[in-house]
Amino acid sequence: MSKKNRLPVVAIVGRPNVGKSTLFNRLIQTDDAIVHETPGVTRDRHYEMTDWNGRCFMLVDTGGYIPESKSVMDIAVREQAEIAIDEADLVILTVDAQSVLTVAELQIAEMLKRTGKPSLLVANKADNEKIIQSVAADTELYRLGLGDALTVSAIHGRSIGDLLDLVIERLGDDYLSSAEDIITDDTYINVAVIGKPNVGKSSFVNAIVGSQKLIVTDIPGTTRDAIDTDVEYHGKKIKLIDTAGLRRKTKIKENLEFYSTLRTAKTIQACDVALLIIDAAEGLAMQDIRVMEQARTLKKGIVLAINKWDIIEKDGKTSLHYERNLDKALAPTTYIPYVFISAKTGQRVKKALDAALKVHTERMKSVSTAKLNIFLKQAIEKNHPPAVRGKDIRINYLTQIKARPPVFAFFSNFPELIPANYRQYLEKQLRESYGFEGVPLSLTFRKKNKDRHEKN
Ligand code: GDP
Ligand code: GDP
Repeated sequence: MSKKNRLPVVAIVGRPNVGKSTLFNRLIQTDDAIVHETPGVTRDRHYEMTDWNGRCFMLVDTGGYIPESKSVMDIAVREQAEIAIDEADLVILTVDAQSVLTVAELQIAEMLKRTGKPSLLVANKADNEKIIQSVAADTELYRLGLGDALTVSAIHGRSIGDLLDLVIERLGDDYLSSAEDIITDDTYINVAVIGKPNVGKSSFVNAIVGSQKLIVTDIPGTTRDAIDTDVEYHGKKIKLIDTAGLRRKTKIKENLEFYSTLRTAKTIQACDVALLIIDAAEGLAMQDIRVMEQARTLKKGIVLAINKWDIIEKDGKTSLHYERNLDKALAPTTYIPYVFISAKTGQRVKKALDAALKVHTERMKSVSTAKLNIFLKQAIEKNHPPAVRGKDIRINYLTQIKARPPVFAFFSNFPELIPANYRQYLEKQLRESYGFEGVPLSLTFRKKNKDRHEKN
C-alpha cells in the first residue's frame, strides 16, 4: 500500500492536571527537536513537529485548551477526545497513576474502543517503583479495555523513549517520515487560506473568484465543508484550499481552537503557500502565531494578509505603524510579506494573490552551486566562524540539495560545532543575496565528504 502523503498527527488527551503539557514538553525534547525562538510560542505551545528514530510526527497537546470552569470541564474533556478521535491519527489517553479514574476517562476509553482509532494508554506520574507496581496491580485501568497502561513520569523523564517507540510502532508505515518528503500536487499552485473564524477567509475567496459561490456568514464557526476553489490567474492554475469550512460545531469555545489546530496541522501539509488572514481590528492572536509556526515547521511559504483594512481609520502612517508592530510580534522572523487588504471592497486582494505567487516562485528557486560557493567564500570572509573548543571550524562547500522547499547543505570539518548564531548569520546572508521572501529555509550542516570536496 502506498504511503499517505503527509505526516501523522498525534493528540494527547485526558482530564486537566494529569500532566499532559508536561508530557508534551518531554516528548518534543528529543535530540533533533528544532528550537524555535518565536517569543510566546515557547511559553504556550500546543503543537510541535517531533522526530524519533528518523520518523517525524506532529504532536498536539490539549492541555491549555481546557476551560478552568468545573461546570464545563468534563464536557470539554469528552468533546476534545471526540475531536481528537476524528482528526488525529493516534490518540494518547493520559491518566494520573496516582489517582483514581474518573467517569470522563472511562467514557473516553469507551469512545476509543468503539471507533477502533489507534490509541495508547499512558499512566503518568509513575515517579517510582512503588507507583509502577500499583499501576500494574490496578484492575481499574484494565477496565478501560485499552490494554496495558504504559507507566511514565513526565517530570522525571521516565520511559519517555519507550513511549516514543510505541507511538512510532502504533502509527505503522503509512505516513511520510519527513516534512520535506511531502509532495504537493504540481498541476496547481496550492494556496491554503487560513485564519481564525470570521476574519474574512470566505469573503477573500469570493473576492478572488468574483462570484458568490461560497456562503458568507456572520456566525463564527458555522458548519460548512472545506472547499477547494480552482482559479486561473496570470495563466497560472491556483487551488485555493479554503479552511474556512469548519465542519464541526463545538459546545465549548476552547475546543473550536483545538479543532482548528488539528485541522490546520493536516491541511497546511497540502499547500505550497499558506495565506494567513487576520482581522486588522483584532490584530495577531496566539492562534495565528501558531499557524505560522506550523507553516514554518512544515517548510511552507507564508504570506500574512491583514484584512478589513477598510474599517481602520487611517492617516499616512497607519500601515507603517501596523507593520512595525507585526515585526515586533513576529521577531526574530523577518521574512514574511504583509499585504493590507479588504475582501469586502476588493482592495488589494489581487496583491495578496500576487504575493502568494511570488512566494511560491521563491520556494521553487534553485541557486547554482557555483554561485553559492562564491557567496559562501564572501560570507565567511566577512564574518569567519568562531573557534569552538579550540577547533578551527571551516565550511568548505555549499550546495542547494533541493527546492520546493529549499534545502541547503553546508559541508564542514566540524558541522556539529557550528553555533546557532553563526547558522542564523548564514541564513540571513543567504536571504540578503537571494531573497526567498516568505520561504522558510532549511540549512543542514554535514561532515565534509573527504573524497569529493577535499579540493574545495
Ligand atoms: P495538564 O493539565 O494535564 O496539561 O497537566 P500539567 O502538565 O499542567 O501538569 C499538572 C501538574 O502535574 C503539574 O503540577 C505538574 O508539575 C505535575 N506533573 C506532571 N507530570 C508529572 C509527573 O510525572 N510526576 C509528578 N509527580 N507530577 C507531574
Ligand atoms: P471567515 O469565517 O473567515 O470565512 O469569514 P467571512 O468571510 O465569513 O467573513 C466574516 C464577516 O466579516 C462577514 O460579515 C464579512 O462580511 C465580514 N468581512 C469580511 N471581509 C471584510 C472586509 O474586508 N471588511 C469588512 N468591513 N468586513 C469584512
